[in-house]
Amino acid sequence: MHKTESHVRSENLYERARRVIPGGVNSPVRAFRAVGGSPLFIARGSGPYIFDVDGNRYIDFVGSWGPLILGHAHPQVLQAISQACRHGTTFGAPCQAEVELAERVVAAYPGLEQVRFVSSGTEATMSAIRLARAATGRDLIVKFSGCYHGHADHLLVAAGSGLATFGTASSAGVPAGFVGATRVLPLDDDQAVRDLLAREGAAIAAVIIEPVPANHGLLLQRKAFLNLLRDETRRHGALLIFDEVISGFRVARGGAAEYYGITPDMATFGKIIGGGMPVGAFGGRRDVMEQLAPLGPVYQAGTLSGNPVAMIAGLTTLDLVSAPGFHQRLGMMTDTLVRRLAAAAAGAGIALFTNHVCGMFGFFFTTERNVDRYEKVMACDVERFKRFFHGMLKEGVYFAPSAFEAGFLSAAHTEADIDATAAAAARVFGSLKD
Ligand SMILES: *Cc1c(COP(=O)(O)O)cnc(C)c1O
Repeated sequence: MHKTESHVRSENLYERARRVIPGGVNSPVRAFRAVGGSPLFIARGSGPYIFDVDGNRYIDFVGSWGPLILGHAHPQVLQAISQACRHGTTFGAPCQAEVELAERVVAAYPGLEQVRFVSSGTEATMSAIRLARAATGRDLIVKFSGCYHGHADHLLVAAGSGLATFGTASSAGVPAGFVGATRVLPLDDDQAVRDLLAREGAAIAAVIIEPVPANHGLLLQRKAFLNLLRDETRRHGALLIFDEVISGFRVARGGAAEYYGITPDMATFGKIIGGGMPVGAFGGRRDVMEQLAPLGPVYQAGTLSGNPVAMIAGLTTLDLVSAPGFHQRLGMMTDTLVRRLAAAAAGAGIALFTNHVCGMFGFFFTTERNVDRYEKVMACDVERFKRFFHGMLKEGVYFAPSAFEAGFLSAAHTEADIDATAAAAARVFGSLKD
């Protein structure tokens, strides 16, 4: 086992970073505020491992928060990227790779006829919502408590108090007008969906959901709930948007739409489709998508959209992910990991709820029998998670530095990595009882 040693170089970099970057990070969860301590600065990655600037090695279960389904520095992806780079890194003009990636995404995803590339998941959901509003001539958006769709203003809205569907801004700086155009519902609550759509259905442009919610741990939903969203949006003329930024190409080639057999009106992508480069995308039926400029009245653009290097990284990744048996094998490995973690917790007498779906998993320190809603996640034992996180870090295993994030497995993780993780977890769980 690789017990980790000094973190002096990471600590020094963090100190420098905090002088010139707010909080020392360019995305807040990286700062370790949710677990305490000082973030690791990563020097390199290889397969299932990351190495920090002090030379410590970790088995990585973050995978850059989802994109790295093939593991770090996959040789074929790297080769494709470096070859593309030699031809220039951006033109601001069409290139062949973006056509090929679009063809690949359209062919893989149920009901998708056209797709447009952007540079992040946030841009994808932001643009999808503008388009949905234009296509329906309506303003209201419905989202779910516990889902994350990036940081555009109208999606930074959290549930208000009690049973109110009116939200409150989940960030300072979000205008009241944006909040007023967003409704927030609990996950897994059929009646709340029916009631809201009965009341305001005629004004709702779109219902957006992560069909596999993976931004507050993993909150797997009943298929019947997703079917209800499909039926209710159709009945009221609202568009159903599946935010597949995490689940796209992970839970299946055709994302959650294929996994559950439910076809949304629009879908958003990111993470895996960029193969580790900054890419997002949104797509849908032709009649909806053709309302975008230059054909239609909905403006949307991007200097680096369809970037040739990023497109090649995505294409190469999707090719490898499309190999026969890819998702089946990854799913089996995930199942093994999660069963081993659950067994280790049970062996140590630690209450743990686990769940998983191909290459993604959740684990919650709770006695709950099913964690599928935001309130249940928030009721978990965060102090216990913090101790588990730091214990595992010392053992050379890197989980997300927050109790409210999912874990990610890549095709590069081996049985030996899972054995080592389970053995480390058994030791750390054993130390958590007090
Ligand atoms: C990560 C994520 C986003 C935001 O993507 P960024 O590339 O970080 O802007 C949106 N939706 C979901 C479901 C995500 O997981």
